[in-house]
Amino acid sequence: MQLKRPSLLKTQCYINGQWRDALSGETVTIANPATNEAIASVPVMGRDETREAIAAAEAALPAWRKLTAKERGAKLRRWYELMLENADDLALMMTTEQGKPLAEAKGEVVYAASFIEWFAEEAKRLYGDTIPGHQGDKRIMVIKQGVGVTAAITPWNFPAAMITRKAGPALAAGCTMIVKPAPQTPFTALALAELAQEAGIPPGVFSVVTGDAVAIGNELCESPVVRKLSFTGSTNVGIKLMQQCAPTLKKVSLELGGNAPFIVFNDADLDAAVEGAMISKYRNAGQTCVCANRIYVQDGVYDAFAQKLAAAVAKLKVGNGAEPGVTTGPLINGAALEKVQSHLQDALDKGATLLSGGKLLGGNFMEPAIVTNVDASMKVAREETFGPLAPLFRFSDVDDVIRQANDTEFGLAAYFYGRDISLIWKVAEALEYGMVGVNTGLISTEVAPFGGMKSSGLGREGSKYGIDEYVEIKYICLSV
Ligand code: ADP
Repeated sequence: MQLKRPSLLKTQCYINGQWRDALSGETVTIANPATNEAIASVPVMGRDETREAIAAAEAALPAWRKLTAKERGAKLRRWYELMLENADDLALMMTTEQGKPLAEAKGEVVYAASFIEWFAEEAKRLYGDTIPGHQGDKRIMVIKQGVGVTAAITPWNFPAAMITRKAGPALAAGCTMIVKPAPQTPFTALALAELAQEAGIPPGVFSVVTGDAVAIGNELCESPVVRKLSFTGSTNVGIKLMQQCAPTLKKVSLELGGNAPFIVFNDADLDAAVEGAMISKYRNAGQTCVCANRIYVQDGVYDAFAQKLAAAVAKLKVGNGAEPGVTTGPLINGAALEKVQSHLQDALDKGATLLSGGKLLGGNFMEPAIVTNVDASMKVAREETFGPLAPLFRFSDVDDVIRQANDTEFGLAAYFYGRDISLIWKVAEALEYGMVGVNTGLISTEVAPFGGMKSSGLGREGSKYGIDEYVEIKYICLSV
């Protein structure tokens, strides 16, 4: 990996403003999913180091929360600028540890930085309220204050953005934060810490601990000092963490799995629908929680849509994301590849037709695939595939497709394409999802609230709502 600034590749954790090894001295080597070659190693930390990080976050809290919002915002703004200044290095690092094509990685760096920029600005807008008193001598005020020490546990599919959209609002609100990044993608997280340090974010305000997920997670969840946990990852782990947080009654935000429906109605602009499906289904090799998982196409356009989609998929170039022109990188690991293949095989065994792709290409690579004639009995209908496999369901009736779209425990993102305005309102309101893209396949932005319903989680990230997750509302009753 040829970084312009090689010192951004950190092999130590960042705790209390210091670069540290594990107390045991133990390290783990991280591999590039495209080549399986070793990149470098990071410390395997556990409960003891996490406890230190929590203590440092607690110690840093009074001074950090005492700064004015403008002062905190200025430091966050500098952090944002440094991310952009180092975008090429961060992107290359991300591609090397995560696999996504360089252009996508660069896009993620800009997206990740946008949360820091947004919340640098929002820090100043943490407005309170005044309420007419209930008695003649009473004056009532409402203020919002940061919750205190917070923790974030993040996944590998967006190594930078899943951190910044938690750290941005937390630090803006005057909280401190300990991050446990995904084991597959520690380097982007540690590089962000290096830039935070350079931006002048004080020791203890932002720490990154890598290592034993269960031990670090247990310590973060059990600690009475940590007042808030924000997690992005699988539903099973999210439930477990929420249970672990119950005894200390922490606030929790959970951004969990999805099973996004993508519906194409007869009156849709088919070219636009194909373009949206390509972005929503195949971005990051299908490894995003808002990826279209089930594509429902109405009778009248089913065959035409399938042909157009196949033509677009045929143009994808699979390979090492660091190479020019590559649009689809590897899956994150062998287990992920096996899951996609098992969904494909299950669909074919139950009568689906392979329209294109699906071949294994060696290592963690596979050809992006499309299957037609799929039905609700197949795994592709029920489970999150998290890979480059598009199943096309045929439907005729609007109410029926709404029922099918909602027939899942998940409720994160949904998409549909159509032009009839009455239909658009009806479907948008009926979908039980936290986010609905209408005639667009790309809905993620720092200005809008990201989050899900049902088993997809709790809370919202980004937008003016995102900071609410990191504050307590306090009401002050003044007798005059
Ligand atoms: P994925 O299957 O996409 O890796 P996970 O939910 O397993 O999703 O992982 C998301 C994050 O949760 C990662 O940082 C991972 O290390 C962490 N994690 C997984 N299991 C636990 C656990 N029991 N306690 C704390 N963190 C965990």
